[in-house]
Amino acid sequence: MDPLKALRAIYPPSRLLTREAELVPYESDALTAYRARPLAVVLPETEEEVVRTVRLCRELGLPFVARGSGTSLSGGSLPVEGGVVIALNRMNRILRLDPVRRIAVVEPGVVNLEVSKAAFPYGLYYAPDPSSQPVSTIGGNLAFNSGGAHCLRYGMTANHVLGAKVVLATGEVVHLGGEGLEGVGPDLLGLFVGSEGLLGIALQVTLRLLPRPERYHTLLAAYETLEGAGEAVSRVIGAGLLPGAMEIMDRLAIEAAEAAVGAGYPQAEALLIVELEGEAPEVEAEARLLEEVIAQSGAYEVRVARTEEERQRIWKGRKAAFSAVGRLSPDYLVQDGVVPRSRLGEALREIQRLSQAYGLRVANVFHAGDGNLHPLVLYDGKKPGELERAEALAGEILRLCIRLGGSVTGEHGVGMEKRAYLAEMFSPQDLEAMERVRLEVDPGRLANRGKVFPGG
Ligand SMILES: Cc1cc2nc3c(=O)[nH]c(=O)nc-3n(C[C@H](O)[C@H](O)[C@H](O)COP(=O)(O)OP(=O)(O)OC[C@H]3O[C@@H](n4cnc5c(N)ncnc54)[C@H](O)[C@@H]3O)c2cc1C
Repeated sequence: MDPLKALRAIYPPSRLLTREAELVPYESDALTAYRARPLAVVLPETEEEVVRTVRLCRELGLPFVARGSGTSLSGGSLPVEGGVVIALNRMNRILRLDPVRRIAVVEPGVVNLEVSKAAFPYGLYYAPDPSSQPVSTIGGNLAFNSGGAHCLRYGMTANHVLGAKVVLATGEVVHLGGEGLEGVGPDLLGLFVGSEGLLGIALQVTLRLLPRPERYHTLLAAYETLEGAGEAVSRVIGAGLLPGAMEIMDRLAIEAAEAAVGAGYPQAEALLIVELEGEAPEVEAEARLLEEVIAQSGAYEVRVARTEEERQRIWKGRKAAFSAVGRLSPDYLVQDGVVPRSRLGEALREIQRLSQAYGLRVANVFHAGDGNLHPLVLYDGKKPGELERAEALAGEILRLCIRLGGSVTGEHGVGMEKRAYLAEMFSPQDLEAMERVRLEVDPGRLANRGKVFPGG
């Protein structure tokens, strides 16, 4: 059967993209170094259309890739050459919001921030807050088990997804998890979260909502060295505090954020943002301790947000920092590795050394409380060999993370970019066990082929 003819039986022409100009925007995700041309992009508006598409792909042996907003930084939503991209942005309805049970049931294309906006009138919000939250979708967040600045206190997406309706790569529709915190039987939902679109496509997701914190206390501290800021993080945790967020930006990231949004940050080699949150009396007591710890950590300037507007200004620079780095360099690779928090200072020192050794600038802006590093390796793709050098440097950073007892990805997934490094983190037996699970639901390796596993 001609695949395009079969797709035309499911989609009207306006929602079946096949012309070159229509396909170009889908050829890559936010990791633009990789590109691939799909056969077609389909824009389903209903669950039934997604299910029919998956079943058709299965029947014809056509590879397919689910796509939310394409903000993956690891090539996770890169199309498979000649395959189908199932772009889910039009499935963006909040189907149910139950303030009493504190849940929201949403379609996969709902943008993360829209959930909190809808929950706002009830004093609730959705906690996982990737910096891409005004753009990225719940389906993409789920597939990557995304994190964000406030995941230090609240955990990653996995801790906030209660259930999902999924079409497996076999074409079967199953319900995983439910609407409560207590699961029954093996945690198949846990297996699906973070599986990077390899097992199937989420059609509906049930999210846990939390009460909005009563009080925030947001502090910005300036340091003379990046390492000093890294060590301050261990001191804060060592003092028994569990802030909502602890973020670090280095000089390059600060410069970029300043140029982009003018947050009014002090001049510094590194800035640490710490945010406490919770009930007012608890936050007030913790704030006194935090200020003592920061004063002893070598910070030479400390600012505390006195108003919500000042708090938002502090966060504006941090949230804009990734995209702002585009002002410093024509191209950059965003890395996403994790080190134990106690070894942050050491990791940052080594990254600086590697940056000098490779002759490429590295900007650092990251979720320090989690030990989740995001070195941005700046390069110029037009200069011969520079991309390869940037990739080699990024690879050294990942190896460093493994060596220090961490991981090759914290929240951006393995995707296309890091699949070669998986074998350095897992034993052949570990990888084989994962592959067996995948093959059980997708014997033809059709769903997001080429991603995650070293062999594709
Ligand atoms: C400026 C910027 C800042 C970022 N900050 C953060 C951050 O702080 N924390 C963080 O974790 N990430 C961050 N990211 C990375 C990215 O935004 C997240 O990984 C996000 O979850 C991707 O969502 P998306 O909708 O764009 O998904 P896509 O990029 O479209 O897809 C991501 C993966 O999800 C799969 N997928 C998509 N929808 C479904 C579905 N319905 N069912 C099954 N699989 C599906 C895709 O196949 C792919 O493997 C950032 C990205 C950018 C560009």
